[in-house]
Amino acid sequence: MNYDIIYVGTGQSSIMGAYIALKENPKLKILFIDKGLMLNERIEAVSSKSFKGLSPIIYGVGGAGAFSDCKFNLDHRVGGDIHIVTGKDIVDELIEETLNIYRELGCDVEPMNSSMNPMVDHIKKSCIENHVQLVDTATMHLGTDGARILYTKFIDFFNNYNVVFETESEFLDIIKENNSIIGVTYKKDNNEINAYSSYVVVAIGRSGASKMESIAKKYSIEFAHGGVDVGVRVEIPDIIMKDINENFYEAKMVYYTKYYKDKMRTFCSNPSGFVALEKYDDGIVLANGHAYKGKKSVNTNLALLCTQSFTEPFNEPFEYAKSIARMTSMLTGGKILCQSYGDLSVGRRSTSERLSRLNIKPTLKDFVTGDISLACPKRILDNIMEFIEVHGKITPGFASSDLLLFFPEIKFRSVRVKINDKMETSLNNLYVAGDSSGYGSGLNQAAVMGIIATRDILQKLL
Ligand SMILES: Cc1cc2nc3c(=O)[nH]c(=O)nc-3n(C[C@H](O)[C@H](O)[C@H](O)COP(=O)(O)OP(=O)(O)OC[C@H]3O[C@@H](n4cnc5c(N)ncnc54)[C@H](O)[C@@H]3O)c2cc1C
Repeated sequence: MNYDIIYVGTGQSSIMGAYIALKENPKLKILFIDKGLMLNERIEAVSSKSFKGLSPIIYGVGGAGAFSDCKFNLDHRVGGDIHIVTGKDIVDELIEETLNIYRELGCDVEPMNSSMNPMVDHIKKSCIENHVQLVDTATMHLGTDGARILYTKFIDFFNNYNVVFETESEFLDIIKENNSIIGVTYKKDNNEINAYSSYVVVAIGRSGASKMESIAKKYSIEFAHGGVDVGVRVEIPDIIMKDINENFYEAKMVYYTKYYKDKMRTFCSNPSGFVALEKYDDGIVLANGHAYKGKKSVNTNLALLCTQSFTEPFNEPFEYAKSIARMTSMLTGGKILCQSYGDLSVGRRSTSERLSRLNIKPTLKDFVTGDISLACPKRILDNIMEFIEVHGKITPGFASSDLLLFFPEIKFRSVRVKINDKMETSLNNLYVAGDSSGYGSGLNQAAVMGIIATRDILQKLL
């Protein structure tokens, strides 16, 4: 079958790209290929506890965004670094354009910024005193429930056009002729199917990062290895985070550790939220977190991540991070490991009994108590503990026994595919976008990349 554009992966990048494509040219014939289920089937699968297939939280139409907290950051400094390829202005402009598309679809939540008051000044001053950079950006927060509404609206929109969704279809390979792409091969119901198009956008997210690497290697598409972010998801009573939660929408903090000089950062903070699991098809289980608009806990969760880059000859950051996750799974029988900071700092494992003596009740039930130091490399653990102590100086009570650490939280960064400022790879008309390109880690930049790639294709289709 022939299409005008094929989008591989149906996450934020592809959806935003296809949306602007159809707005500009309603006659286009578009194919979406996704390994997971259709969004309504994902929603059913998530509520059915007995579901056994690929994790419906990560895979399927709507991508990881559909079951995310849907915090949409309005700044190029957050969510990736595609601006190093395109420049900052275009990224900020397209973030604004995406926000307007959300509004067009009726998802109109006012973006939030930090307040201006003496407490904000105090926190900012405290960050400066403790060598912490505060990245204070405006954010639109739809919440996990709002995210599903948004992506359902996109699908309703696509249903009015010549759009085919091939779900439960695994992208296997690309088809090329000379130095140009001419289509892709995917597997559905054990059949290998070829679909043809002169323009293909591959946006298979974090879950498709290793597939992206194998395609790049196979076809000598130029790429560089990126780093990896390994850390913990921490949970603490809301009362400890009150000053930050009430005055900043999300206070993103960056800190370089004193001994190793490694970068630590806070990520994805969820006031009154819930710690969640991310399950991948290779059995890896990672910690994450989210917040609902309509359902609240009494705890705040956030990630503390350590960025680890490697030097020659090591070039397997992805495998390195996966090995950490596998090691943890080995210790826990395939679950997330939980330890209180009190236990970690005195070098003993946590037990359910010790956790029951704390003030905090974990929002996640499916974990095993233990000792993170048995699974986490020393350098990363030292960095995490140093950052917790520094955070405690800015947020009194943070570095306490009541801080629960869920390990591991890992942000796999895909290999960085070499692209031009239109997202096109060294193989003609093969575009990459979103997390699997190696430049993205958030919804804002995934949208930007999907739009840039698509606009270039629309120009070529003229
Ligand atoms: C739990 C969670 C919460 C998050 N919260 C936020 C947040 O609040 N704010 C924010 O900005 N970012 C958040 N993120 C990150 C954000 O979701 C991603 O950056 C964004 O979704 C990336 O979009 P994408 O289009 O690159 O890929 P994705 O949205 O990941 O979509 C990729 C798609 O490709 C499919 N796929 C993968 N491999 C294959 C294959 N071989 N064949 C066919 N299909 C394949 C998958 O099924 C998936 O549907 C969160 C992520 C997670 C996991």
